[in-house]
Amino acid sequence: MSALFDVQIIRVQLPMSKGGRYDYAVPPHLRAEEGSFVKVPLGPREVIGVVWELEPELEVDQSRLREILEILPTPPLPKVAREFVEWVAKYTMQSPGRILRMSMSVPDALYPKAPKKGYRMTGAAPDKMTAARKRVLSVLEGGIARTMSEITELAGVSSSVVKGLEGQGVLSAEELIAEEALPIPIAIKDKVSLSGDQKAAADILARDVESKEFKVSLLEGVTGSGKTEVYFEAIAAALEVGQQALVLLPEIALSSQWLTRFEARFGVKPVEWHSDLGAGARRRSWRAVLEGDARVVVGARSALFLPYKNLGLIVVDEEHEATFKQDEGVAYNARDMAVVRGQVGEHPVVLASATPSLETLTNAKAGKYRHLLMPSRFGGAALPDVELVDLRAHKPGAQSWISEPLETAVRETLEAGKQAMLFLNRRGYAPLTLCDACGFRLQCPHCSAWLVEHRLTRRLQCHHCGYHSHMPKNCPDCDAEDSFKACGPGIERLTEEAERLFPEAKIAMVASDTITGPAAAAEFVNAMSDGRIDLLLGTQIVAKGYHFPNLTLVGVVDADLGLAGGDLRASERTYQLLSQVAGRAGRADHPGKVMLQTHMPDHPVMQALAAQDQEAFFNSEIEARQMAGMPPFGRLASVILSSPDPDSLKSCLSELSRRAPQGDNFWIMGPAPAPLSMIRGRHRFRFLLKATRDVSLQSILQTWLKGLKMPSKTRLQVDIDPYNFM
Ligand code: ADP
Ligand code: ZN
Repeated sequence: MSALFDVQIIRVQLPMSKGGRYDYAVPPHLRAEEGSFVKVPLGPREVIGVVWELEPELEVDQSRLREILEILPTPPLPKVAREFVEWVAKYTMQSPGRILRMSMSVPDALYPKAPKKGYRMTGAAPDKMTAARKRVLSVLEGGIARTMSEITELAGVSSSVVKGLEGQGVLSAEELIAEEALPIPIAIKDKVSLSGDQKAAADILARDVESKEFKVSLLEGVTGSGKTEVYFEAIAAALEVGQQALVLLPEIALSSQWLTRFEARFGVKPVEWHSDLGAGARRRSWRAVLEGDARVVVGARSALFLPYKNLGLIVVDEEHEATFKQDEGVAYNARDMAVVRGQVGEHPVVLASATPSLETLTNAKAGKYRHLLMPSRFGGAALPDVELVDLRAHKPGAQSWISEPLETAVRETLEAGKQAMLFLNRRGYAPLTLCDACGFRLQCPHCSAWLVEHRLTRRLQCHHCGYHSHMPKNCPDCDAEDSFKACGPGIERLTEEAERLFPEAKIAMVASDTITGPAAAAEFVNAMSDGRIDLLLGTQIVAKGYHFPNLTLVGVVDADLGLAGGDLRASERTYQLLSQVAGRAGRADHPGKVMLQTHMPDHPVMQALAAQDQEAFFNSEIEARQMAGMPPFGRLASVILSSPDPDSLKSCLSELSRRAPQGDNFWIMGPAPAPLSMIRGRHRFRFLLKATRDVSLQSILQTWLKGLKMPSKTRLQVDIDPYNFM
């Protein structure tokens, strides 16, 4: 037997886009496991990766393998997490390394935090007592240990004073315990008594969790039916059987009400995961998820890629929300990948919504998903009345957007001491600004998009790339002075109108520029709950999930807004958003009313909203999709090519057209300039691949794109199941 027999050989996946899987030898004093995090040499660099395979079949001579440098003091990445990485990589047509990088987003967390040094009194007296020394000893009274920075801060001394006392043996240094363990949520049973419908649904979900099997349930309940209370039961069940639970929310940074409810129910805060977290919190949370100490995680879509030790339940709340779809970088839909995660990890998945996506609804109707229905609001609260205001008959005056019937309704609501909300899904002052003298429109220099005036921040903004500038004094085209005029309403301009109409009311405007993070969101919720706001004006940021008992009137200023453009999901999305907004009204004992201002009162979306006939609307949408062979009855993928250089883009496009595969059950459309034909200085073209359900889009794309030579600076982005057609 060779001397090398005992050497362990491993295949390591590195968290990078290209290549990224290499074989190494493990030095005799170390022993790697599958999933171990290891530090390895890569060329001149040192990189951390994950052991993907033990004793792989080697393609090179074993003696030529380099040795790993270190096995990190971290539990291995569980098998399920590795399988999930592989699955997502295949589906999204990305390298596993790129997906693994999403799971290893906090490199810092791979090492346990170095314990801090603390100082404690030994009982010995200093050779000479000074005022500074006295202060140090007094902050350490009672035998407590403190860190250097605590002591210098509290006693107002420099570190040399502390060091001096240590040198004399008056203080001794020791290691402090690194981090406090996370508090464990307690599953308080019978904390809330559930209604009949709620209990029935909750029992089924809890049983699923206990049986630890893959099962997807659509929890469909009207707004205010108590879906949250119901899935809390499932979370409690997961805690009881010792598993972790993950809740995905569309806007976690805005979910202060949700967090408060969770804490009231489970006694502690959940572990949060979103982009507003500081570095320390990210580190701690990532590690706690891997070690299993994070019992319940609530997060944005990226929370799906955390390294769960034993995940037993995923809840996707507001599963229809487009925010779950990421279309830049790795294009994936977190709702769909949550279902995949459940399948790989063999645990239940709950998709909750008042207005489910057609995809999910179709799966539920086909019996692939279980369908749990909660048709009424909790506590007997009635659903609001929905009234259409025909703008053709009730045309607001010049430069105003609130019709007379809506104005009257707001006035009556405020006079009755209730709150009202006006909804307009448009940020800024006006969607378009043009020169009154020559008609010149202010456009973003980097995008094919108009600049939007924001009076609050006093600037013109591009909503696609972040470019901003000041309003020019003179028209860049005809040089006329102060000639720019706002066209159409944004939420800021609507607020001006509301202030004119209701001068007595306490008015607040809420948009993504005013709600800049969790603290601002929480402050808004408090102001609304305490009645410091009478009339709220908001964009879609206020549409989601909030529960304000005293809010009884919701007015939608431009209900037709989302229908323009007409992409695949325009009707569906408009219906969902407006139902969501409408659902904010009259959630407690006071009946609510919703008014939709529209130019198209006969449009199926408006009719369905007015009649509150969701079933009929969804059925007709499903039928239309079926006839057109569109998702979920067919498959779509888009291929977007972009480049700052139009010529190299053109040659690449014709190369792609030339080699486009052909078949009976799929179609390749394009190339066509994307509706946003330029973003951030890059010209954009797109192909759309449409196929029947039995076809693998990935294999067609693979054949098509294989060996394609991309000119430099040209980028190709594949989006399977696209949501964004801009
Ligand atoms: P949904 O998510 O379906 O819109 P929520 O879960 O937010 O509904 O519930 C609406 C309101 O009703 C919340 O204030 C919630 O606390 C309350 N509620 C729902 N179910 C119960 C229950 N069983 N007992 C007490 N309050 C409940
Ligand atoms: Zn721009």
